[in-house]
Formats: sequence, C-alpha cells, structure tokens
Amino acid sequence: MTGNGHRDYLRIATEEAFAPPEVISEWRGLLERGDIDPGFASLWGFFLTTRAERPQNVVARLQDLGERRLSDMDFTGIDKQIISLTAPGTQIFDTDRATGIATLANDQLADACRAHPDRFAGLTAVAPQDPDAAAKEIERGVTQLGFNGVIINSHTHGEYLDNQKFWPILEAAEAQDVPIYLHPNTPSRGLIGPIVEQRLDGAIYGFAVETGLHLLRMIVAGVFDRFPRLRLVVGHLGEALPFWLYRLDYMYASRVSGRGGQSVELLPSEYLKRNVWITTSGMAWEPAIQFTRQVLGGDRVMYAMDYPYEFEADEVRTHDELALTAGERRELFQGIAERVFKLDTAAAKG
Ligand code: CA
Repeated sequence: MTGNGHRDYLRIATEEAFAPPEVISEWRGLLERGDIDPGFASLWGFFLTTRAERPQNVVARLQDLGERRLSDMDFTGIDKQIISLTAPGTQIFDTDRATGIATLANDQLADACRAHPDRFAGLTAVAPQDPDAAAKEIERGVTQLGFNGVIINSHTHGEYLDNQKFWPILEAAEAQDVPIYLHPNTPSRGLIGPIVEQRLDGAIYGFAVETGLHLLRMIVAGVFDRFPRLRLVVGHLGEALPFWLYRLDYMYASRVSGRGGQSVELLPSEYLKRNVWITTSGMAWEPAIQFTRQVLGGDRVMYAMDYPYEFEADEVRTHDELALTAGERRELFQGIAERVFKLDTAAAKG
C-alpha cells in the first residue's frame, strides 16, 4: 500500500490495461500470418516490433500483474487500478478462440485481484462474437470472480453494439448492474482507409473517431431506450462527443425528419447525461477536463491514467492541481469510481 500521505482521497485509476502473455503470443501469430484487420496490423505491428525499446516498455508492463505494476503505481501515486484486457482483446479472434481467451484473461486477472484486493479491481473480458456465452461470462465475472464491470474494445470484426445480435451482452450488464467500459480500438475496416494512410489510426485520433462513433451509434439506435439502466463508461474525455453536444442535439431533428433516421426518446446529450460516465484517460489537460465537467456535470467525470500506455507522474500532478474544491477533487479521483464500479475500498482507506 502506497500510503496516501496528507491526501484525503484515494487515486483510483479506472482505465488501466493488461494482457496475458498467451494473448501477446497469439497476436504475434496473427501478425505473422497476415491478412488481418488493418487497424490491428498497424497498431500491434508497431507495438510488437519497433516499440520494444521504448522507455515505457509497454508490452512488458502489460503482462505484469504483480510487483512491477505495484511499484509503478507507487511511483505515480496510484492507490488502486481498475484493470481490463487491453484492446483489441478477444475481439480480433475467431469465435471459439475469443471465448477461450476471455476465460483465460479473466481467470488470470481474478487471481491478481485476489492477491492484491486493496490495489486491483477488474473488469470482465468477453467475446462478443458469441453474445450468449459473453452474457454468461459477465455473470461469472460478477458473481464468481468479483469483477466490477465489463470491457468492450469497440468494434468486433467491424460490427458495433447497436446491432441487436449483441444485445444479450447489454442485457446481462444491466441485469448484473455493472457498467460496460467502451474502450477504443483502431477504426474498423470500413472506416480506417484515409485514417491509416496518414498513420492517424491509433491514440492520436483514430481511437476517438472509432469509439465516439460507436457510442453515438448506440445512442441513435435506441440502445438506451431498450436498456434505460445500462451504464457506459467512456475514456479520453468522452472521445470528443462532449465538444459536439450542441451540434448533435441541434442536428438530431433533421436526422430524423429529413433523413429518415430512427427516432429515439431523448436527445443525444440527454443519454450522455443519464447513461454515460467519462474518464480523463490520456487527457491530462485542464481546459478539456473543466469543459467536460461543465457540459456533462462534475458527477460524470472521473480519473484514469491509461497505464501503461500513459505512465506520467506529471499527469497525476495535473489532476491534483485542477481548480476544484477538495470535495470535487475527491469525487474525481475516488467517489464517482466507487459508485459507478461499486468498489469496496474500505480496505484501502487506512
Ligand atoms: Ca486505454
């Protein structure tokens, strides 16, 4: 335990990644065989070849659920990580392999959470390729493994969660009362062409295009009318959607009346303020954080680091120094995460 000194809040980081060695090895195999999703080829071709010597040493850090991770958390002052299987997780595999990988990843993560219950919490990985199996895994994650939500790494072979075939997953998350973290992936095959041409497909821009679009598709398809209690968490300050709120609402009417789009019960901004929570992963930038708090509400924006892809003590300090009241800061770092993910942090409060 890192000891939180004079702080009266825990720093809970909510979008923190891991990958079992078996998954990294399977991904290497996919890259060697070729003929794969172009976003995966671009991003993981990069991480698994040229990136190895990079200071963050992302690939090694992803695979550690023990001392190295704990020591990195101590170094940056993170009390607790909410850990999930990194993108694209299972979603690059065929159905059977994906389901097996989800089970394997969840068992490894659950072991780590049991070993360090005050430092780690976990999200359930699923294989959306088999929605009924995924729904069962969500139930196992909550009832047997003690997980606090579900991770979905955006598209699955170019398909999105507004497709009703995936709705057993949403139904299970709502029934178990756990949030789905809608995490970025590289843009799907149909979206990536002009983005990857200029190597903009990763965290610099493509992740936000893909993931913001995914959330918007869910909203206008009526997902949150069918599942009004479903909770979604979205990183990177909402993948740019908060900046678009006015225009989304303004243009929504013409989308329905003039262009034949499906009508839903609320305006896009109303779903974002009812069903969606936002994290600051990779966006340690005060103007954007304050803007997002202003337009969505301070009770919707919580802290994330995005370890190990982001691993910067300065970014933690930026969050510590935001112009917030002590109570607002405690909510940003701790309170919202405790409620949305239903964390038991009593053990870590000493
Ligand atoms: Ca991330």
